[in-house]
Amino acid sequence: MKAIRVSVFGGPEVMKLEETPDLHPAGGQVLVRVKAAGVNPVDSYIRAGTYAVKPSLPYTPGRDAAGVVEEAGGDVSGLKKGDRVYTAGTVSGAYAELALCDPGSVHPLPERITFEQGAAIGIPYGTAYRALFARGRALPGETALVHGASGGVGIASVQLARAAGLRVIGTAGSDRGRELVAAQGAHHVLDHRAPDYLNQLSSLTGGRGVNLIVEMLANVNLAKDLTVLAQNGRVVVVGNRGTIEINPREIMGREASVLGLVLLNASASELSSIHSALGAGLENGTLRPVIGQRIPLAEAPRAHDAVMRPGAYGKIVLIP
Ligand code: NAP
Repeated sequence: MKAIRVSVFGGPEVMKLEETPDLHPAGGQVLVRVKAAGVNPVDSYIRAGTYAVKPSLPYTPGRDAAGVVEEAGGDVSGLKKGDRVYTAGTVSGAYAELALCDPGSVHPLPERITFEQGAAIGIPYGTAYRALFARGRALPGETALVHGASGGVGIASVQLARAAGLRVIGTAGSDRGRELVAAQGAHHVLDHRAPDYLNQLSSLTGGRGVNLIVEMLANVNLAKDLTVLAQNGRVVVVGNRGTIEINPREIMGREASVLGLVLLNASASELSSIHSALGAGLENGTLRPVIGQRIPLAEAPRAHDAVMRPGAYGKIVLIP
């Protein structure tokens, strides 16, 4: 089979397409024939060797994929050859023609969801769900700011928050991104590169502030976020690429909360519950992953370059 292999941590160019031996599932594993693999920013941090958790080399990148079950191990129940599935984690890596998975990471892919869309579910929708509901305790009727709404986690957050009855304000840095965020259900869309966008946000909330912020770039925005929160407001830090100075007084008066999130911390039972909820939304059409770029597997380095650039537009997926 063909797979992307990384033998040394470094820039996108360290990813090489290689011919590797076909995989076979152990009794408790599932082998998935990958039709599309999702490209997440974390894949590039891991490849660069800057992420807290480092795989042993060589390895195949990627956690998110969608495809069909090629073979289920003898001890696996509920999954069989030919089933359409998406993965939220793999044992052997998703940037490949075949991926070995634990059955708990393999979820049914509804007919209305394409394989490319299926590759956009695992990390983005899992993170968005956990940010909004488990960490952020979002309630219907509240106002949520999705700060960085044009990318994978942002689009998922907008769709989930809208479906749950929140008033949704999304931000994006490009015209195209803002159009997408509006089309995905945000009630209002702002430009996070415009100098006055926080004044616009304040006007939109009648000066009361927002109840919940899902934050994609905390090192740039956290200090500002604290000033636009309502009383008892919550910021969930999903993305961060550096350090920032904040004024804790902004937290005190509002009795606000700053909450961290790392999806990898979610327990197996929490993930099972999250994917049950996502499955319902995928089935009923509430959740519709948006694919912005499809890139051949051999060009994985180009995909890693693209995922770190501004101007996000939904997900980037690799096609084996
Ligand atoms: P993505 O698809 O590349 O999207 C990045 C988003 O950040 C885009 O909406 C982008 O908007 C936005 N952004 C850029 N500059 C911004 C600014 N100044 N203020 C607010 N937003 C800004 O990435 P993703 O998959 O959605 O992930 C988003 C972040 O969360 C990444 O840093 C990722 O590593 C992290 N993440 C963390 C977890 C976790 O477990 N904690 C899980 C998933 C993702 P424009 O391009 O339109 O400017």
